[in-house]
Amino acid sequence: MDEFDLIHSITPRTIRHSSVDVGIGDDAALYTAKHGVQEIVCVDTMVEDVHFKLHYSSPKDIGYKALAVNISDIAAMGGIPKFYLVSLAVPSKWTESEIKAMYEGMNELAKLYHMDLIGGDTVSTSDKLVVTVTVIGEVEKGQACLRSLARPNDVVFVTGEIGSSAAGLSLLSEETDPQNAVIEASYFINRHKRPQPRVNIGRLCSNVQRAALNDISDGLASELHEIAEASCVSIEIDERMLPVHSDLPKLHPHWKEWALFGGEDFELTGTVSKGEWELLKQECETRQLPITKIGHVIEKTESKVILKTDKTSVILEKKGYNHFK
Ligand code: ADP
Ligand code: MG
Repeated sequence: MDEFDLIHSITPRTIRHSSVDVGIGDDAALYTAKHGVQEIVCVDTMVEDVHFKLHYSSPKDIGYKALAVNISDIAAMGGIPKFYLVSLAVPSKWTESEIKAMYEGMNELAKLYHMDLIGGDTVSTSDKLVVTVTVIGEVEKGQACLRSLARPNDVVFVTGEIGSSAAGLSLLSEETDPQNAVIEASYFINRHKRPQPRVNIGRLCSNVQRAALNDISDGLASELHEIAEASCVSIEIDERMLPVHSDLPKLHPHWKEWALFGGEDFELTGTVSKGEWELLKQECETRQLPITKIGHVIEKTESKVILKTDKTSVILEKKGYNHFK
């Protein structure tokens, strides 16, 4: 199979958005942009043996996650994902059906989010697989949920549960014995391989007056740092309020580190004013979307993230603990 056969075989038969004027097949894609919205563009690369390993991730899983992590970035801006482009560096040993399976993994999500594949690039490589996905989305003008929008006294929240993806990775890399797992290891493994971007909660956040938002790719501590730095505030969270799966503590003594520093949960964390928190919580409850208050924003010129525990407070570094005296 040559490059052109491959492109032909992955070209979608139908286009979901009528705003696409030219999809795959020309030098570049064309779509007609809407008035009153801001376009959102993001790109993420996944590299074999860095972001995934072939012995535990199928081509379908790889495709799914490569698109999911980008949709999560759109969600973290409060936007709607619309289009994606895929750049592949494929080792020559990959078969056509494996490459197609990767696109099927992406298409699972594209169907769910009503997205169109509008282009990409294909090269062969002698070494590892590299998948780069670009996603284009949109958000109503002025309503994007920027990291710089946190203000003192805001409520700090997180969606879903955290630490499960790190638990899954630990099980996959056999650092955690699945025999210890009280519940099915497959639950945590699935959380790692198939994260579910929180577009719906991101959209609710874009509807409040002001929301700061970030998605959890590098771990809660790191994402909160980014919000604190961009907003010139400090953030205090309470360890006892962190939402984790009830079986997470049974898996490994390091479960708290997974929750704080693990990453790849692709949940959202952010801040809104106290009044708007009540509204947002209500909206989420009505739709059965999980969201938990974990702390608040404090006025500080130095941007810190502080973790309150039973007895003490510790400063959370972007990575690792640093105890108060
Ligand atoms: P050019 O040489 O003009 O850059 P290509 O021959 O690389 O064009 O690509 C032809 C068409 O196929 C373009 O529309 C491009 O966006 C699309 N395309 C190429 N590779 C991929 C891919 N891996 N996934 C999706 N679309 C692709
Ligand atoms: Mg060309």
